Amino acid sequence: MSCIFCKIASGEIPAKTVYQDDRLVVIEDINPAAPLHLLLIPRKHLINVLDLQEVDDQLIGHLFRVAAGIARERGIAEDGFRIVTNTNSAAGQSVFHIHFHMLAGRDLQWPPG
Ligand code: AMP
Ligand code: ZN
Repeated sequence: MSCIFCKIASGEIPAKTVYQDDRLVVIEDINPAAPLHLLLIPRKHLINVLDLQEVDDQLIGHLFRVAAGIARERGIAEDGFRIVTNTNSAAGQSVFHIHFHMLAGRDLQWPPG
């Protein structure tokens, strides 16, 4: 498997892991776009949201609840944060293993570029 996020999830490629469980890994983005920039990565190799099936519903719900827990732990819940997932080329998806960016620590523009 040549997928970089599968390799990070398995430990084959090192990453700054801030949380992990049997379904997810959460790492620091190597090229942060905000003071806090985490990637929430399901261990399951799905390409993007277009690849999700009903069987994945609990996984994605779990991912968002983990994100909310991290936000509370890190004291960013009240100020606010953004979770975004890019899908295919117009959105700039560059890694084709589903992941959710969690951004915080500065005022985030809306709409995003
Ligand atoms: P996207 O462009 O939405 O597919 O997001 C991919 C993200 O993965 C980018 O923000 C990259 O900076 C990040 N990234 C790529 N390789 C690594 C890596 N080895 N460790 C941590 N983050 C990475
Ligand atoms: Zn993968």
